[in-house]
Amino acid sequence: MKKCNVCKQKRSDWMFKTYKKKTCRKCEYRWWRNVLRMMVRDRKLTPLERMGTRIGYMGVGFLIAGQWTINPVLYIMGFTCVLIQVAIRRQWNLVVLQLNGLIAWTIHFINSL
Ligand SMILES: [Zn+2]
Repeated sequence: MKKCNVCKQKRSDWMFKTYKKKTCRKCEYRWWRNVLRMMVRDRKLTPLERMGTRIGYMGVGFLIAGQWTINPVLYIMGFTCVLIQVAIRRQWNLVVLQLNGLIAWTIHFINSL
């Protein structure tokens, strides 16, 4: 049994993270800290992922331009760029989505020739 230096309550030893700790686990716990820690968990990008992100942004630019002009070439370029990004990130559902858009717009493009 030890006395916590924050809540001033006597608590059993397992309530302290280490033997030398003077503050009990209950006083140390902050839910907001846990939420933040959960959100940033191993979110370091590798150089390849970072390059993929830039290509992805470029692709989104093409897609936005394509949606305003209905130009198949812009769509094809946009879907290709975003496809590279989502493939690097291994987000396979989005890979399928981008492939679908790429094939559909390629067919539109071929038909419009
Ligand atoms: Zn305490």
